[in-house]
Amino acid sequence: MRIAVPKEARPEERRVALVPEVVAHLVHTGFEVRIETGAGLQASFPDSAYVAAGATILSDPAQLWGDTDILVKVSAPVTRGTCHEVDWLRPGSTLIGLLNVLGDTDLVQRLAVREITAFGMELIPRISRAQTMDALSSQASVAGYKAVLMAADASGKFMPMLTTAAGTIPPAKVLVVGAGVAGLMAIATARRLGAVVEAFDIRPAVREEVQSLGATFVDVELEEETVADGGYAQAVSGAARQREQEVLHRHIQRADIVITTAQVPGKQAPVLVTEEMVMAMQAGAIIVDLAAEQGGNCAYTKVGHEVERHGVAILGPRNVPSLMPAPASQMYAKNIQALLMYLVRDGVMQLDFDDAIIQGACVTHAGAIRHAELRHTDATPHSQASVKEQHHA
Ligand code: NAD
Repeated sequence: MRIAVPKEARPEERRVALVPEVVAHLVHTGFEVRIETGAGLQASFPDSAYVAAGATILSDPAQLWGDTDILVKVSAPVTRGTCHEVDWLRPGSTLIGLLNVLGDTDLVQRLAVREITAFGMELIPRISRAQTMDALSSQASVAGYKAVLMAADASGKFMPMLTTAAGTIPPAKVLVVGAGVAGLMAIATARRLGAVVEAFDIRPAVREEVQSLGATFVDVELEEETVADGGYAQAVSGAARQREQEVLHRHIQRADIVITTAQVPGKQAPVLVTEEMVMAMQAGAIIVDLAAEQGGNCAYTKVGHEVERHGVAILGPRNVPSLMPAPASQMYAKNIQALLMYLVRDGVMQLDFDDAIIQGACVTHAGAIRHAELRHTDATPHSQASVKEQHHA
């Protein structure tokens, strides 16, 4: 079975879907692996390392996409020149990547029309037996770590307490809002650098994890259900939202660095840090908003930019895992490897749609939209024709 890895076409994407170590494993297992020229270069994996791992290098992207059984990539496919990458794929072939399909009906229709078997890595269920495939977690860990380094770099302050002949410098105070995967990694990183860390989340279940990392859990008694099925947060409203804001307002005034990571699956990120809160912060304080691409947790966040308001710098970085492309690719490639080993047995793709992982992650198969949350997507012959027309236009 042939696997292809393209060079990512999005300008901000520096990761690559497979790293040489994983290629060697796949080749050993019996896959034939093809890599587009320079696909791993931005993540520090040269073509020669892939060749040494047993891959073949191909320079023509259309050939690479079209002549494969499975194409694995990082970001969702895009239009290149006059052609959409999906239309290079052979009908019946498989596409795996962080496809972000929940907000992209055009892509879903395109995949269905082209009869691609597509898997969204972002849709892998967060269940124990799928942990090795959980790319949201692996990439969130990278983001949480990097966010603290970005904040430390932007801040003019020391992170640890320093006791020197020239006096004692107090440690930086870090507040982490949202203690999911990224938030917990941010807490651990800030603690390792010596900061005093407080963290806050609407899911009370994270209290122990926060405390075990040496941070203080900020208690907000919200008196309403904050956890949805599957353990995810759900949006809070009315009185609970106000209570949360009051507590946050008190704690944010003391913080030198605020890392926000709060998200509610399928929704815009909640705006938790208001203009009044930023106004009340100390001059020189830093906010790194990891929810920037989902709308942002701070009222002032501008995605892809650093803005300054009332002496506070607010960073809204895009695609943070891509800023550490080598480890992010290593972890992502392991997630892909685990999914491939799960899907392909004895050289054949086994698709059991009663299986929670396959049911959860499969977007389209054999011309049909399979994912439960996307079935309403209009993939009627009329809309299919319009996708084809767009392609030929
Ligand atoms: P996420 O990225 O969706 O959200 C980040 C954090 O923001 C969450 O902890 C959430 O509770 C918090 N949040 C949302 N609204 C908030 C608000 N108004 N104020 C403060 N905090 C708010 O979360 P994630 O990191 O992807 O993880 C979410 C869930 O997935 C958790 O239940 C986690 O335990 C679970 N999970 C399970 C597995 C597994 O079993 N394989 C792996 C990873 C995560």
